[in-house]
Amino acid sequence: MSASAGRTAAWPSTIAGARDALDALRLSAVDLLAACARRLDVDHALCRAFVGSDASREAILRRAVADARASDGRRGGVGEERARGALDGVPFAAKDNLCASAGTTEAGSRMLRGYESPVEATAIARIRALGGVMMGKTNMDEFGMGSHTRTGASGTTTNPTSSGGARSAGGSSGGSAAAVANGTVFYALGSDTGGSVRLPAAYCGVVGLKPTYGRVSRFGLVSYCSSLDTVGVLTRTVGDAGIVLAAMQGEDALDSTTVTRCEDLDAAALEYSTEALVNASSTSLKGVRVGVPEEYAVKELSQEVYDAWDETVRTMEALGAEIVRVNLPHTKDALPCYYIIAPAEASSNLARYDGMRYGDLTADLSREEYLREDFQRAIARARSLGFGPEVRRRITVGAFALSSERAAEYFDKAQKVRRLVSNDFTDAFKRVDVLVTPSSVSTAPKLEDIEALSPAQSYAADVMTVPSSLAGLPAMSVPFGRSRVSGLPIGIQFIAPRFKEASLVRVGARLERARARSYSTSTSDALDARGEAVTARRDELIALISTPDAPIDRVIEANKELSRLEPLVSQYAVVKALRNEKASLEELTRSDEKDIADIAREELRELTEDLPEQEHNLRVLFLPRDEADDRGAILEVRAGAGGDEAALFAAELFRMYALHARKRGWRFETLNVAETDGKGVREASAEVLGDGVYGRLKFESGVHRVQRVPETETQGRVHTSTASVAVLPHAEEVEMNIRDEDVRIETMRASGAGGQHVNTTNSAVRLTHVPTGITVAIQDERSQHKNKAKAFSVLKSRLYELEREKLASERSELRSSLIGTGDRSEKVRTYNFPQGRVKDHRVNETTIGDIKGFMDGFLLDDLIDALKAKETEDLLGRGNA
Ligand code: GLN
Repeated sequence: MSASAGRTAAWPSTIAGARDALDALRLSAVDLLAACARRLDVDHALCRAFVGSDASREAILRRAVADARASDGRRGGVGEERARGALDGVPFAAKDNLCASAGTTEAGSRMLRGYESPVEATAIARIRALGGVMMGKTNMDEFGMGSHTRTGASGTTTNPTSSGGARSAGGSSGGSAAAVANGTVFYALGSDTGGSVRLPAAYCGVVGLKPTYGRVSRFGLVSYCSSLDTVGVLTRTVGDAGIVLAAMQGEDALDSTTVTRCEDLDAAALEYSTEALVNASSTSLKGVRVGVPEEYAVKELSQEVYDAWDETVRTMEALGAEIVRVNLPHTKDALPCYYIIAPAEASSNLARYDGMRYGDLTADLSREEYLREDFQRAIARARSLGFGPEVRRRITVGAFALSSERAAEYFDKAQKVRRLVSNDFTDAFKRVDVLVTPSSVSTAPKLEDIEALSPAQSYAADVMTVPSSLAGLPAMSVPFGRSRVSGLPIGIQFIAPRFKEASLVRVGARLERARARSYSTSTSDALDARGEAVTARRDELIALISTPDAPIDRVIEANKELSRLEPLVSQYAVVKALRNEKASLEELTRSDEKDIADIAREELRELTEDLPEQEHNLRVLFLPRDEADDRGAILEVRAGAGGDEAALFAAELFRMYALHARKRGWRFETLNVAETDGKGVREASAEVLGDGVYGRLKFESGVHRVQRVPETETQGRVHTSTASVAVLPHAEEVEMNIRDEDVRIETMRASGAGGQHVNTTNSAVRLTHVPTGITVAIQDERSQHKNKAKAFSVLKSRLYELEREKLASERSELRSSLIGTGDRSEKVRTYNFPQGRVKDHRVNETTIGDIKGFMDGFLLDDLIDALKAKETEDLLGRGNA
């Protein structure tokens, strides 16, 4: 049965896309599996990414079919069960050193030939529990020892992205990288001890994410170097990598080095879990501090990789990141250190292979023969038969480094160097959030050139990846363009502090998204179309104004519109001029006269930096405006949870807004204050008038939280109390027709603190709007007449807001998720008095260190500016430009 029959939607290439197709029942999981499985033959002819005997492959595929059918049953089926998230029904592959309970697990070694694991690796098991469909095992270097997927018993995997001459797919997870790059599976699991996920990702042009040591359980992963081994993932997009990592992460009783799951990583994964979300995701790197370690500019680094690295940094800067030069002085010691520690641990880990357990050497060594021999000699024979030359070399080196005569000189020293390398990162991460380096010194080398290298020379391929492995840090390779000479992909590495995979995912995805956008001409076409449209409109208006007999009210209207359009028209003119200049400079760079070409190139470089910024400014100008932003506002503050303390806080907040309004030159008129016994208020409202008041104060709506020792308490325990703030656009100037018969008016005596009556006439007014049930009570003024006028003003604003909310929920997808939904029950800010700071939860936890200055109304602008900037970015990110 094929759900795809007759549909023409594009075949998905990412997990998010596959998920959308499955959810929409455009494709079934069986369809997806069938198409991927058909590609296995192509894969075999192309690059041999997959391994296993026919029997093993078939066992895996048979289980995959059952898994895919079960997944289809969860989507659109008649059963009770629901789909289990983004991975449900999506085919993947796993590196052959991850134990699976179907097929064999050979880890590229003859020693493990035919080995059928009784257990399934936690990483695979968790993905399958979420509905993931494992459809094959991928090739690797023997036990993960190598950088080119050529030391394994199943032979070499070649790079699917290269045509001219066989190139390295990278290693040791080269099979996984090739399988993702050549389109056979949507993602593949790999392992990364010193770069085995990142290097093949870079060579094959896919994303490779290696988590923090301890993030993903190693249970069921064939051990190479236990203190460095991690399970990682290869995908086509950064967001997809986040999805898979989130599925695998978390504590596992079967691996004592694992840690509890990171909720922020789950959240980051969700942000990219459908195509719509991906398309709407932000591209801003504002507030991100990016470190560029100069020690990575090694002399072996090829020019094209260096240029891509440089361009990455400049792109990140253009997206708002702060670029910081940092030093990691022990970088050069990392490679030799790694090549002592890894073989040392390997020699001990591999001692378990004796030819008796695990694999089956009977083809080469019969049981009788084995048993007849002297025990030690039998083991030695099995090992020389079962292990390939690279593994034997590593065991020898490792045993040497661990030997009692040499351990102090090699292994112990390497451990100390490992600590120094790790400390370098700790220091750097005091100043930056993420480091950016190349993933490899060059693009994928030719396999024939690798043959010619000595082992030590070939180890140099890992120079960019081993330092972060030694420090146990999460790191990710992201494709960043291709070589202009060979067309081969180039990978850039991002390294984050321990357990900060979520920031790796977000930073990487934003960069990836920004690049995807700048490639898609459609966005700049749309921008051009709007630029042309406003320019034409401007000309029309000018023509109208200059017509001698134009009616005066039309001229006034036209003038208004003109002054609104003018900034757009002139910014578009700037962008257009820069583009023209760019085109003519590009022409000049092809000039035969070298001087002219050089100058043109230099100018082009500057221009290339300027143009994206001016285009960005233009997009900002084109953002949809909320006409209410220009209005005044009605501000309401109410005491929330926390009794007297909440009332005191509400009073202080109200005062803060009054002071802030004064500072900005706004008129602040108190409408109503309901006091409590102490110095607090239960509820207070004001009318704030001035230019663009609502556009700024609207961000204040929500729950504000205060933490401090209540003045009424002597023992000094910190309490948390809340006050809620609501800001409504002032509706005085808009048509809000309130019908008399809809309003019930009551008058009463105003009540003061403690409930005693403060005056004897019935000056307080309460309005009830019958159709909506909204009530407004005003008692501030002594005259009933004035209170009534104020009450009507508030009622109008409430009704206006109601209208707007209706409108907004119709366009709810346009509302910014980062700013908050405008839901007033949302906790927006915390005022922490013991620590003297104010923290806003909507803008990366932006913090103001001077709480006193804040409460005096001086620093609110800082937070509002940040919130406004975020709103702009968010709107831009949602494709409204
Ligand atoms: N190329 C490195 C090695 O041979 C890294 C391999 C890996 O990460 N598994 O040890």
